[in-house]
Amino acid sequence: MAVNQVLTDDQRAILEAAETFAREQLLPAYQAREKQEAKLDRALLREMGALGLIAPDAPVEYGGLGLESFVCGLLAEAMGYGDFNVAYAPVSASLLSQIIAAHARPEIADRWIRRMVAGDALVAVALTEPRGGSDAAQLVLQATRCDGGYLLRGEKNSISMADQSDAIITFARSGPAGGGARGVSAFLVPTDSKGVTTTRFDDLGGWVVGRGSVFYDDVFVPEDHRLGDEGGGFRQVMQGFDYSRALLGLQCIGAAQASLDETWRYVNEREAFGQTLAAFQGVTFPLAEGETMIAAIRQLCHHTLRLRDAGLPHTAEAAMCKWLGPKTAVDVIHQCLLTHGHYGWSKDLPHQQRLRDVMGMEIGDGTAQIMKLIIARDRSAARS
Ligand SMILES: Cc1cc2nc3c(=O)[nH]c(=O)nc-3n(C[C@H](O)[C@H](O)[C@H](O)COP(=O)(O)OP(=O)(O)OC[C@H]3O[C@@H](n4cnc5c(N)ncnc54)[C@H](O)[C@@H]3O)c2cc1C
Repeated sequence: MAVNQVLTDDQRAILEAAETFAREQLLPAYQAREKQEAKLDRALLREMGALGLIAPDAPVEYGGLGLESFVCGLLAEAMGYGDFNVAYAPVSASLLSQIIAAHARPEIADRWIRRMVAGDALVAVALTEPRGGSDAAQLVLQATRCDGGYLLRGEKNSISMADQSDAIITFARSGPAGGGARGVSAFLVPTDSKGVTTTRFDDLGGWVVGRGSVFYDDVFVPEDHRLGDEGGGFRQVMQGFDYSRALLGLQCIGAAQASLDETWRYVNEREAFGQTLAAFQGVTFPLAEGETMIAAIRQLCHHTLRLRDAGLPHTAEAAMCKWLGPKTAVDVIHQCLLTHGHYGWSKDLPHQQRLRDVMGMEIGDGTAQIMKLIIARDRSAARS
């Protein structure tokens, strides 16, 4: 990977550790994990934690390495190359440890981030409700004040890792109904709290991560588990989501790069009309186009993360990553599947699984249309 040449020694060392782990531990069992496991392998996550591969950007005082967001982007691509589903755990830990560090009380942040970074705890985020996810600010799950904290009542659905997380950052309405973003608070809810129950959906892809509903039946959440101000949670905490959009873009193109690499090998071996497939430009040009698109998106994501590391605005750029990354990855993996002919259509090869796994990210964390709304709003405001 050419990016290696512009890294510091520390950055190069952690990237090489991630690439080795992804190729030796993740890639060989990518398909087996879907067949055998309906959950992320906790022992594997602890191994990643011990290598510093989970949220190395988390603050040092909470057990992280305090590295740049850009480095987490490099790791997201490396892990996405090995196993798109396992890669979701560190990507989500990077986002959520930053949110917890910024908005939780120090003792709560210490308790949870330390465990996340070590691979001991999975934290999910619950925003979407049965009534819809795009217009998230209209959420209705109720947080009612009580002695010492809040009681949460309602349902979230379409929540990644719903049935295997140890805590869920939950957005709930603590203000009057119909108040939009104002009046929404965020809470860190341990999933062993009384009144929390979950289900699992029968999804097309992303099986090891899983998705489901979370029901809150008068769940007591202590006051010190609120993230940010009462009623200010939506505005404060949602700002962090620009970060995951660039990481998700890289996670997706990592998976696409794996399919491309496998396809280059295939077209150099398989023969038709007396030559290898690689001799035909009709075969190699689509792959060359895929390489080009992936290289362009990689640069866009790196640029976005560098803006973030420099403390500069990057909301529109993050939305570009989140729209174009998954979409291009799906297109490229689809092409790789077709280039394998009838073998590509078999479940023996990984392209069909990558296609199903990555496609979910065209919806999760906000659809293409919502990303384009964000880009248009930002650019329109900048030019008015
Ligand atoms: C794999 C996966 C993982 C997920 N993980 C999580 C999670 O961990 N936590 C969580 O809270 N949610 C999660 N989600 C839910 C996801 O965030 C929502 O599905 C998404 O925000 C869209 O909401 P919706 O499905 O309710 O669609 P809707 O909001 O009902 O929209 C339906 C369609 O209409 C389009 N649309 C809506 N409004 C507009 C508009 N103004 N202009 C143009 N088009 C519009 C949308 O783009 C979409 O195509 C996940 C979803 C998936 C698929």
